[in-house]
Amino acid sequence: MRILIAGAAGFLGSHLAEKLIALGHNVIGIDDISTGRLVNLDCVINHERFEFINHDVRNPLDIKIDAILNFACPASPIHYQSDPVKTIETNFLGVINLLHLAKNQEILLLQASTSEIYGDPTISPQHEAYWGNVNPIGIRSCYDEGKRAAETLCFDYKRQYSVDTRVIRIFNTYGPNMALHDGRVVSNFIVQALQGHDITIYGDGSQTRSFCYVDDLIEGILKVLFLKNPIGAPINLGNPIEFSMHQLAEQVIALTGSDSRIVFENLPQDDPKQRKPDISRAKEILGWEPGTQLNEGLAKTIEYFRGELSR
Ligand code: UDP
Repeated sequence: MRILIAGAAGFLGSHLAEKLIALGHNVIGIDDISTGRLVNLDCVINHERFEFINHDVRNPLDIKIDAILNFACPASPIHYQSDPVKTIETNFLGVINLLHLAKNQEILLLQASTSEIYGDPTISPQHEAYWGNVNPIGIRSCYDEGKRAAETLCFDYKRQYSVDTRVIRIFNTYGPNMALHDGRVVSNFIVQALQGHDITIYGDGSQTRSFCYVDDLIEGILKVLFLKNPIGAPINLGNPIEFSMHQLAEQVIALTGSDSRIVFENLPQDDPKQRKPDISRAKEILGWEPGTQLNEGLAKTIEYFRGELSR
């Protein structure tokens, strides 16, 4: 297949590009290199079946392809909040431009949605039928509501134009190709520990997240992409094992052997208190569940960041 990846230079887009090339597909990667990094594409950039186009997905594009993966949007709160108008435009205009392509060429579009569409959830774990608890005017809304509107568009294009749209809701994911200054908790804690700096827990550290190692997630995404009979409903993809930020900090300190101190800083506005996916739908439909334990995935990620710091 000839597959378009929007956001190809980002953390997940770059892993997908590498995997799809290895599987024998042709990949066209587009990215505006705002938070993505070309270095993430080092292993495919010179491959004969890979092509890179510097393109901002907010602008229309016309290109002949067989499938679209839409991963174009900054995903770390510090990045998506630094230009919130661009963030919501990227989600809204970006998916419209790509859905237009999918409709005209009668091809599938896989939309990277997010656990953020559940906001600060009032139930745990979060299953796909839960409508969420999102502040529509807060500092996270540009991302949360942008992703929610993108889901709406995917389902409207499916109902109105019969486009094969597939929506995955990705929970916190970590691993190689995250940027040193990504700003998310796993990269912050590891880089702080390796540099002997204070480890910054926001709030009291009791808030939880469920962390999925990137290889597990990519396997789940490919299963959705290649599913013969799409189910026409969103699918949660993530690791259901929940940790508090305090537990995460302690694991990172133990695995790095760091003597960093833990310090506490203010909890950002609207920071979700808990997050844990219900993955029964993914298990049933895809036969997928993540297999990497947190300490195993963290060890690989620590090695990656050691390499990045010594560059
Ligand atoms: N967090 C933290 N220290 C950091 C960065 C993040 O304690 O240096 C917390 C953050 O407040 C949130 C959790 O870690 O409760 C996960 O944050 P992240 O930005 O990784 O992703 P989110 O799930 O909030 O989008």
